[in-house]
Amino acid sequence: MAAIIVLGNSKRIRLGSPNVFIGSFVLMKALEKVLERNKVRPTAMRLLVLQYLFTKNVAVSLTDLENSFEKSDRTTLYRTLKTFVESCLVHKIDDGTGVSKYALCEENCNCEIETDLHVHFHCNLCKQTICLPKHKIPAIYLPKAFLPQEVNLVVKGTCNKCS
Ligand SMILES: [Zn+2]
Ligand SMILES: [Zn+2]
Ligand SMILES: [Zn+2]
Repeated sequence: MAAIIVLGNSKRIRLGSPNVFIGSFVLMKALEKVLERNKVRPTAMRLLVLQYLFTKNVAVSLTDLENSFEKSDRTTLYRTLKTFVESCLVHKIDDGTGVSKYALCEENCNCEIETDLHVHFHCNLCKQTICLPKHKIPAIYLPKAFLPQEVNLVVKGTCNKCS
């Protein structure tokens, strides 16, 4: 098994046994590069949060993050997420559950409404929200003088693991 790490949802390589790489030097170095590329100073906390998001295949909430980082307070975790969202490393998802979810962006994402936004899928059975990066949100033409700031397209149903 090759230790190839490519970031971005669509290019993510499923690692046969993720535990081999989690916390590994190779992964941390790759994540550090990702932060630097997005002009985010790599602190220990940011690296750990990014690593956590990287190892998840589903979107996570602030509470999920909090439960995995027992020693960190919610405000610090929230600020880390906010920094990631502002630098287009992570996008925020409104999946209609009332709780914001966060997921890694694809490489070179600018979070542009016209080009970068994709469909999300929310499974009614396992309650997971999944990015579908290959399924872009179709162009939406608004009436004159209407300016979009956020667009969310969530498909609800049964995911491939539950169907
Ligand atoms: Zn993005
Ligand atoms: Zn499911
Ligand atoms: Zn997404």
